[in-house]
Amino acid sequence: MIYERVALIGLGLIAGSIALAARRRGLAKEIVGTARTAQTRETALRIGLVDQVFATPAEAVAGADLVILCVPVGAMADVAAEIGPHLKPGCVVSDVGSVKQAVIDAVAPHLPAETVFVPAHPLAGTEHSGPESGFATLFDNRFCILTPPEGTAPDDVARYRTFWEGMGARVEEMDAEHHDRVLAVTSHVPHLIAYTMVGVADDLRRVTNSEVIKFSAAGFRDFTRIAASDPTMWRDVFLNNEAATLEILGRFTEELFTLQRAIRKGDGDLLFDHFTRTRAIRRGILDAGQDTDAPDFGRKRND
Ligand code: NAP
Repeated sequence: MIYERVALIGLGLIAGSIALAARRRGLAKEIVGTARTAQTRETALRIGLVDQVFATPAEAVAGADLVILCVPVGAMADVAAEIGPHLKPGCVVSDVGSVKQAVIDAVAPHLPAETVFVPAHPLAGTEHSGPESGFATLFDNRFCILTPPEGTAPDDVARYRTFWEGMGARVEEMDAEHHDRVLAVTSHVPHLIAYTMVGVADDLRRVTNSEVIKFSAAGFRDFTRIAASDPTMWRDVFLNNEAATLEILGRFTEELFTLQRAIRKGDGDLLFDHFTRTRAIRRGILDAGQDTDAPDFGRKRND
């Protein structure tokens, strides 16, 4: 056991997976939680994610040794303001937000001096939401990035690292701003591109008479999975990682124009060289154990 009492604020996909993964390895004596709606709280209790639910974040954090904010990034400030006066001295506060600097700016001012803030971002998720979408193995072999502000007590960071490692994750530490730039490249802009492409196809559907859906297997289907991700979560990600997203999007647009010109000019060498380089990146992801090598992500032929 690493923490006696863990309080989860928000009981969706990520909180649900934390609860199940922590239970699997006995990392907490007691797990309690709260969510915005009574329906989510009741579901979380019924399916055994938490031992107890509370109607408000203030009640949920009382007596907790570890509090993890698992709400959308845009809701972090209000939740932090509410729990601040009710936190136990010495308690570790963390979050799982997909953006780090904006969350630190929103949360840290509300936390009393005798608490410790260790922001975190597990690089694991699915396009599903809600308490019933959580599963115990979500974090297995996936990275969790900690972005403790300078001066955070090393012992508290080390203990929290052990908690994530206990849930199966590989933990790395980095500066929050660096995290936001890296994630803009690896996650945020790719999501925006998927949202754009699926929107374009939806507009064209009227022209192509639903062929977009019928013949979706060739690439488009993978975009639709990403573009099915939670609208609230992703709206908040872009609003809170604006600078890095816009910078990477600018580079993406330049590159797109280069490829567009190559197609128009019939420059096959440029296209071939570009695609050869990107294929090698896929190899690197597989070598790092971050995806399956099965053809078409292991889908069955008749999927
Ligand atoms: P989720 O399944 O939609 O769950 C969100 C939870 O937050 C729900 O319990 C919801 O309560 C509660 N909530 C929503 N708005 C709230 C508000 N204004 N005040 C209080 N509670 C509120 O979301 P999730 O996928 O677990 O994401 C949670 C966090 O993890 C986000 O910050 C996201 O950026 C981060 N994250 C997500 C992924 C991913 O792939 N999904 C991966 C890594 C990190 P109700 O159900 O009662 O509305």
